[in-house]
Amino acid sequence: MSFFGGIGGASKKGILIKGATYLETLSKVCTVVFDKTGTLTKGNVTVTEIKSFGSSEEELLKYAAAAECHSNHPIAKSIIRACTSDLENAENVKELAGLGIEAIIGGKRIFVGNAKLMQKAGAEYFDVVFAGTAVHVSEGANYLGYIIVSDEIKGEAAESIKALGDVGIQNTVMLTGDSEAVGEAVASQIGIDLVLSELLPEDKVKKVEELISNGQKLAFVGDGINDAPVLSRADVGIAMGALGSDAAIEAADVVLMDDNPIKVPQAIKLAKKTVRIVKQNITFSLTVKGIVLLLGAVGYAGMWPAIFADVGVMIIAILNSLRTMR
Ligand code: ADP
Ligand code: MG
Repeated sequence: MSFFGGIGGASKKGILIKGATYLETLSKVCTVVFDKTGTLTKGNVTVTEIKSFGSSEEELLKYAAAAECHSNHPIAKSIIRACTSDLENAENVKELAGLGIEAIIGGKRIFVGNAKLMQKAGAEYFDVVFAGTAVHVSEGANYLGYIIVSDEIKGEAAESIKALGDVGIQNTVMLTGDSEAVGEAVASQIGIDLVLSELLPEDKVKKVEELISNGQKLAFVGDGINDAPVLSRADVGIAMGALGSDAAIEAADVVLMDDNPIKVPQAIKLAKKTVRIVKQNITFSLTVKGIVLLLGAVGYAGMWPAIFADVGVMIIAILNSLRTMR
């Protein structure tokens, strides 16, 4: 009953927990790992600069938007939004998770993505060092230019990291497929302990496995775009429900309805309280029953103490359980 109450209380706050076991695991979590884009940042990316080394800026954006037109990635959406002209048809579109897009547009093989993708395409790219994520565009090994997109950090991000410390979380980690410069900049602004950047989705799984291997319980918070495998690998996977993909909501154990990271410390606090109430109930019931049993055996307890030890204790335990709903 306490667990049901806890799950019910959490759902009133917009935290959907898929079962009692996750509530129990959540109460033991020591490390919380976050994905960056869409989790700690708004995922509401905007194009801030376009630099073309070949054709016009407009042309570059058109290629990028055509390649991105089937992607759900926040970066893709921002590029499509920024492009005002009609999109050309892209064929053979391949989304390379954690890298970008490869597509054939007007017979040309176009790559749109990060520095790693440019290395893969064999293109000599311009190394953009300032803050903001650079999306490079190349035609085969021929570098065309870059588009800078930037994302805003969620207002509650820093507060959430601080609140995690208050509920007893020892380690906070951020994983990102983005560049080190962007990763470090975000982490230092919100006070995350450790940042691991330039990770492909499979690297994220490996890092999480490394962190789990020291035996401490780990929760991963992500939006499921490129990180659904990590969500299912973590002891508790927490997904952003509004922005998150269906795969994320499916793979996760806990879903936050409004994408607010402050719900993570709230969920942990609630889980700890629920488990505390369960333990109180078990200790209280067994102690009272044990005492009455002993008194009964030596002839001191009659019918009324026996009824109290049975029904009375149950009612008190139920009333105590109801506290989890608030
Ligand atoms: P994060 O770990 O921050 O959530 P992702 O793993 O989703 O980021 O992506 C990592 C990096 O891969 C992005 O920063 C971007 O450079 C590149 N990337 C991924 N998908 C795309 C895409 N559709 N278009 C362009 N770049 C992409
Ligand atoms: Mg992501």
